[in-house]
Amino acid sequence: KATIGVVALQGAFSEHIFMLQRLPQLVASTVEIRSAQDFEKYKDSIDGIVLPGGESTTMSIILERETGLAQGLKQWIQDGKPIWGTCAGLIMLSDVITSTKQGGQTKLGGLRTTVRRNAFGRQSDSFEIDLEIPAIEAYGPNPATGSLKLPGVFIRAPVIEAVHDEGVQVIAKLQGREGREGEIVAVKQGNVLGSSFHPELTGDVRFHQLFVDICLQNKKN
Ligand code: GLN
Repeated sequence: KATIGVVALQGAFSEHIFMLQRLPQLVASTVEIRSAQDFEKYKDSIDGIVLPGGESTTMSIILERETGLAQGLKQWIQDGKPIWGTCAGLIMLSDVITSTKQGGQTKLGGLRTTVRRNAFGRQSDSFEIDLEIPAIEAYGPNPATGSLKLPGVFIRAPVIEAVHDEGVQVIAKLQGREGREGEIVAVKQGNVLGSSFHPELTGDVRFHQLFVDICLQNKKN
């Protein structure tokens, strides 16, 4: 069984908790991390951390100035422990962030990628598209729909413009979206997972299962 810490400051954290708790065989239990004190309290008992989507500028300010939690998270990443960033979380994990607007994001860094913020335009340009992800299809079909594909929910989503070395494995690319064919939307680098879409906003728990399996595997080693 794995215990997952969910950074619960802003954005879609309760949805992540809901999904983790729904996993089959109750493989995951969760704790909320809201402060540097929470991090200190839980860091030795959790097996992985979820950094949710939301708004990366806001979340950066809270992480850095209001809670001081950024420091602990950076250490966690440097120690090679499991972490999964969705959307804004992915942005903060990326070593290089490009943006049309100056954002002032905190770079937690560690993920050897270049990520472009708001790569699909404005809020109203948000979209949903099915993704073919072999690592997810290995779990069998989406129990909710029977389809092997993962529903990809993109909300003012970033895109992974470049991966900087072969230690970064591309696990999902866009298919069938005009003009955006083959753009990278999820990667795995050792114990670090990044997705520009929001699996926690779907009925499909397989992406959460993938992350929990990374955590369980890491715990065994
Ligand atoms: N566009 C947001 C940002 O730059 C991310 C959106 C999201 O997490 N859904 O922070």
